[in-house]
Amino acid sequence: MSFPDRPLTAMIDVAAGPPDCMAYERAGGWEAVRRALKNLTPAEVVDTVTRSKLRGRGGAGFGTGQKWSFVPKEPASERRKYLIANADEMEPGTFKDRLLLEGNPLQLVEGMILAAYAIQAGHGIIFLRGEYHLACKRLDQAIAEARHEGWLGENILGSGFSFDIHVHSSAGRYICGEETALLTALEGRRATPRSKPPFPQTGGLWGTPSVVNNVETLCNLPHIITNGPEWFLALGTGTDGGTKLYGVSGRVCRPGTWELPIGTSLREIIEDHAGGMLPGYGLRALLPGGASTAFLDVTALDVAMDYGSVEKAGSRLGTGMAIILDDRTCPVGMIHNLEHFFAQESCGWCTPCRDGLPWVERLLMAIEAGTGEEEDLEQLDRHARMLGTPGRTFCAHAPGAMAPLASGLKLFREDFAEHITQHGCPLQHAARSL
Ligand code: NAD
Repeated sequence: MSFPDRPLTAMIDVAAGPPDCMAYERAGGWEAVRRALKNLTPAEVVDTVTRSKLRGRGGAGFGTGQKWSFVPKEPASERRKYLIANADEMEPGTFKDRLLLEGNPLQLVEGMILAAYAIQAGHGIIFLRGEYHLACKRLDQAIAEARHEGWLGENILGSGFSFDIHVHSSAGRYICGEETALLTALEGRRATPRSKPPFPQTGGLWGTPSVVNNVETLCNLPHIITNGPEWFLALGTGTDGGTKLYGVSGRVCRPGTWELPIGTSLREIIEDHAGGMLPGYGLRALLPGGASTAFLDVTALDVAMDYGSVEKAGSRLGTGMAIILDDRTCPVGMIHNLEHFFAQESCGWCTPCRDGLPWVERLLMAIEAGTGEEEDLEQLDRHARMLGTPGRTFCAHAPGAMAPLASGLKLFREDFAEHITQHGCPLQHAARSL
């Protein structure tokens, strides 16, 4: 089958619902599993994905083939290993995996079979965000159908490789999406992160080798195996390969998510796909890849949304789902709202994060309420520096939380200062005097 430019979403028809096994096969589905299980060794699958330069789409961008290469090589029949799809999509402003889960769950099933074959894992788990009820129902249906048709279970296609998938609904905390907290949650314990190393690839679920891959990452695999790594690389506009699900939320005409070549500019995403700003609103700044990325201002609109370019501009690609700050929304209020979320979602395991994030929230609350003092800004600067430095907390939660704060303190310094000198939000004062 020839794939269009949007392989991940080509089969998605939101109104019609997801394709069943037969429709999926008619549209070219299962071709990759057939090819891999019949013609490729697990090492050849790892090599193909490594050459495609596919990077993790959950936010961190670690090389997928490289991640798999750390897994011990014994066959699935000789050693218990796990493949886990991280579908705990809880980053504020991020709703891309939901489209894939609800729109074409069989694509994820096929991607998981390929990843599991590559690392020789006999057991698959989809760790699903608790609120994704429709996705849960559709995944259960797709897995049952795939099992019935022989794509899951014992000795798939007579290859000797056996693999099955189980869906686990999260208990509903943001930290459960952090891969080691996710593993601890699956083990039935309080979901706190673990120190790395050991990385899950060698010491994961119940101490066994495990790989945790994001949903979008896994959904790319059938297309890479069917069409080859060169085809995948050529889909991107810069150094990264493939397409990316991008999205925009905030006061734009058409908030949503779109599959585009990786490296598409922010300007094209916001102006062409999201339809530009709503009438009466101007674009002031944005978080390019979810709540745990740093603000970029309007001068960054021509930045290509790939890993290297966004980093060079001072932020991170993250999930690729941009959150817009418009010129009628108070940046202090927006940052307070984000820090409230991060403080609430701290798992409480390490002291700097457990105590530092609520302290940051309290300072912001005071500044917004008009009782802030000048020293509060220095305190915020210090917290942003301390908590924002990786290695000072147990996991990436606090450094992620500090990204919008540290960048916001630089970009919107005057707004913070005005809140202090005017004893409250200047935008609210202006609205009251109208
Ligand atoms: P990380 O960089 O520590 O790890 C990313 C992946 O690479 C992990 O699977 C890890 O095992 C692997 N890895 C990294 N270094 C390795 C090494 N030396 N050897 C072997 N494997 C290695 O990042 P993280 O803490 O897992 O994730 C943070 C990211 O998650 C942030 O960038 C944020 O954008 C994103 N995030 C996404 C969501 C969402 O809903 N999609 C929610 C919260 C956070």
